[in-house]
This record gives sequence, structure tokens and C-alpha cells, in this order.
Amino acid sequence: MNKNNQANAVAGTRPGTRSAAARRGMPGWAALAALAGFVIAAAVAQNAHPLQRSVPLDWFKEVPPVTGLHPAVAAGRDKLVAQAAKIGIKVAITDEFRSSQEQDALYRQGRGDGGAIVTKAKGGESYHNYGLAIDFALRTPAGKVIWDMEYDGNRNGRADWLEVVAIAKKLGFAWGGDWTSFKDYPHLQMDFGYSIRDLQNGWRPPAQG
Ligand SMILES: [Zn+2]
Repeated sequence: MNKNNQANAVAGTRPGTRSAAARRGMPGWAALAALAGFVIAAAVAQNAHPLQRSVPLDWFKEVPPVTGLHPAVAAGRDKLVAQAAKIGIKVAITDEFRSSQEQDALYRQGRGDGGAIVTKAKGGESYHNYGLAIDFALRTPAGKVIWDMEYDGNRNGRADWLEVVAIAKKLGFAWGGDWTSFKDYPHLQMDFGYSIRDLQNGWRPPAQG
């Protein structure tokens, strides 16, 4: 074998016929996996909002604006005031239905309008905006409205505030003081299983509750 033949034999083993990926040092299976990943990512991106896309159009139906308390919430409020009075507690209802505009004004409080922050909800984000919530406080014999959670006006050794909460819960209210993110101690609501999102989308609890 002469020198030229030797050179040709070596040339025949050079990797001239292998794929581009292999030439870059990438095994074939890795290239395939990368391609599969790209295809999956593209499919996911196309369906980024599968829920929104599957919502039927009639979910966004026009609904008459809420202008007052739901009848069941109003009835619950009246029973709460009456039952508390029986054990010597005067309940003051400080807020009931709130329009979205009123809610927005409340939201600005403590966020540029001065004072302390009193709500985490903008217009349309509070159960008050759908007539499903009330706020309460206590009224002293002198007629003063107080937010003292330790006040024991009926002298039974229990805080009046928590006695009112206990009555409210029996009447079907949920209490804002049980919330974990933003505690709202004067707040009572009946959601009837409807989320704020449901209500924003036009769902309303039946009038009979
Ligand atoms: Zn409230």
C-alpha cells in the first residue's frame, strides 16, 4: 500500500455522511425531543386561554343592574338586629348595597385620597356591589356607633361583637373576620355559592335565595 492509498482509507472513515445535528455533537434523540418540545409549546400557546374560549357567549348577557339588597340578605339583616336586641346588643348597620362608583370611591380611600385603606375591592369586586353584603357596628346606650371588638355592653362576659357574629353565622352569613388575606371585621355576606367572577359575568342568585 502506497502513501496515497493509505490517505484514501483514512478519508473513508471521516464523518462526511453524518447528520448536521450529529456534526454539532447533538445526538439524534435530543434533536427529536427538542422538536417535540417546540410543537407542544406552540400548541399550548395557541390555547393560552382555553377557559375564556370555551365560555358560552350568553354568559355575558345584559343583566339589570343591582340597586339594593337581595331580599334574603335584607331579611337576614332584620333578624340579626332583632335577635341581637333580645340579648341586649344594639347593632348599627353602617353599609349595605354599594354601587360600583361608591365602591371605587371607597377603594381610593388610603390610596391617594387620604385616610386608611378600608377595602381591597374595586367597583364590581365586592359583594356589596351585588346587594349580598352588609357591614355592622355596635351602638352604645348613648347612641354612639363604635367598632370596639372587646366592648361588652350587655355585661355577660362575652364581647358583643363576637356575639353578633355568632348570630349572623346562624342566619347564614359569612364573616369577613374569618378571611385570611384581608380581615374585614364589620363585614357579613351571603354569596349563595356565587364567586365574584360569576357575578361579574352576569350570574345572579335567585331572588328567593
Ligand atoms: Zn363589607
